[in-house]
Amino acid sequence: MKLLEERIRKDGTVREGNVLKVDNFLNHQMDIELYKEMGQEWKRLFADKPINKILTIEASGIGMACVAAQYFNVPVVFAKKAQSINIEGEVYQTKIESFTHKRVYDVIVSKKFIGPDDHVLIIDDFLANGCALLGLINIVEQAGATVEGIGIAIEKGFQQGGKIIRDKGYDLKSLAIVESMDNGELKFRDE
Ligand code: 5GP
Repeated sequence: MKLLEERIRKDGTVREGNVLKVDNFLNHQMDIELYKEMGQEWKRLFADKPINKILTIEASGIGMACVAAQYFNVPVVFAKKAQSINIEGEVYQTKIESFTHKRVYDVIVSKKFIGPDDHVLIIDDFLANGCALLGLINIVEQAGATVEGIGIAIEKGFQQGGKIIRDKGYDLKSLAIVESMDNGELKFRDE
């Protein structure tokens, strides 16, 4: 998606440890006009899928999932990062290792909100090593629901997550794929 690539070029900064900082428009201050364009693009990309629910993870995924949900007319469920689990039996639970914070979180979703009849679109801001997505996929599988597709804003194509998820057969669509960012110079796939 050219608009997102241009915005990353204009306002994104490359940090140590392969971290792309986009907090002035994507995941701290949020540009809602851009979010709308992203939501419409995901709707176009997944138009043929019988999606009835969007699943994301707190915190950065929530805003873009909510804007996208307006084009799908479906509810959004977000996975919560839990410090301790005290509602055993009532939640699906998985572990996710955070790329940016280098720690492992327990992540939960109430069993009330995803079940076998659900056809889920997973949305998140970044795809790096794939841990966050594998955790969300695991929750959908525990629920007996179907992953209809995965929409990512920015995939870092030089990390392994995209290959792992596509090799498993999931319909993964990333709006911008950063192929490399060596020495702060951004290159996108397709260029
Ligand atoms: P993964 O689990 O695929 O390794 O990483 C995905 C999660 O890590 C995303 O939900 C995102 O919050 C965070 N993340 C990964 N890489 C970056 C990055 O380069 N910049 C930012 N801002 N977040 C990232």
